[in-house]
Amino acid sequence: MKTFIFDPIDPSALQYAKEKLDVVTWTDKEINNYSLAEAVIVRTFKMTKEVIDQMPNLKIIAKHGVGVDNIDLDYVKSKGIRVTNTPQANMHSVSELVIALALNCARKVSLSQKLVEKGISKNSPVELAGFELQDKTIGLIGLGRIGSLVGHKLNAAFNMNVLVYDPYTTQSKCQEEGFTKYESLEDLLKESDIVNISVPLTKETENLISARELSLMKKNAILINTARGKIINEQDLYHALKNGEIFGAALDVFAEEPISIDHPLLTCDNFIGTPHNGANTVDALIRMGTGAVDEIVRVMKHMEALSVIA
Ligand code: NAD
Repeated sequence: MKTFIFDPIDPSALQYAKEKLDVVTWTDKEINNYSLAEAVIVRTFKMTKEVIDQMPNLKIIAKHGVGVDNIDLDYVKSKGIRVTNTPQANMHSVSELVIALALNCARKVSLSQKLVEKGISKNSPVELAGFELQDKTIGLIGLGRIGSLVGHKLNAAFNMNVLVYDPYTTQSKCQEEGFTKYESLEDLLKESDIVNISVPLTKETENLISARELSLMKKNAILINTARGKIINEQDLYHALKNGEIFGAALDVFAEEPISIDHPLLTCDNFIGTPHNGANTVDALIRMGTGAVDEIVRVMKHMEALSVIA
């Protein structure tokens, strides 16, 4: 199957793709000849109506990763094109990044490094005082694959109490996981020391966290978002951080990526930014690449794909 790979993937996954499929890669001239594509693998490449219209032979879009907001799903469905993703492939990597960001923010690791590099004059200045995660409360917005792992890992490591806001999950699932389900986002924001966002970007979750929600958080709380940038109003977050309304924030995702070097958030000492790095581990990259290839092979063999989005 003629498979266009628009974004760079792990070399061993690319080798695997070449063994199984007729591959055109991001470095080949042929990549601009969209009309040949029968299958595509995309990471961030945008599958818009205009692009899809140039691919009359397209049968499957295999997303390398989870979030499919770079694919015009309504249009794809109307054309009968399959869309798959690799949901299990990066959940450990992303949940581990959430924990790295929580610890970094709580203990001001990045700020400490900056001060050390400048040549610090005395030991442990008061501006570097952080807080422990031990026995604190984590509020999970979204109890899917990543949210659930974040809750379990923080509970196992630091005995954190886990609260959940997810209107689409059940009380019994939360109970089985040992977590407490909250019906109100406001209550979760008021009670959490760390708030983690792991929801898809939808009409409902866009701007889910704006000035009002930030004002409900504890003054010494941390906000973490590794899901999608537009879920948080960045301007409102900037004001909350500058005014000390919350302790800190760590974002792996931004409304516009890559984040611009003069973005106001980068002027805040209590802000940590990473460049959409959640799934960026060797482990996850191999699993996402080979997983996307396997889905195309299954469709090619007229088998049902493992993770069907459309
Ligand atoms: P998932 O589908 O397993 O879980 C999403 C959860 O969000 C579900 O439980 C769903 O019920 C819940 N949800 C949906 N709408 C909600 C709302 N309005 N309020 C509260 N909860 C809501 O997804 P996942 O694998 O856990 O991934 C979560 C998101 O993380 C993905 O959609 C993707 O955008 C993002 N992601 C980012 C990276 C990265 O590199 N930073 C990597 C993987 C995934």
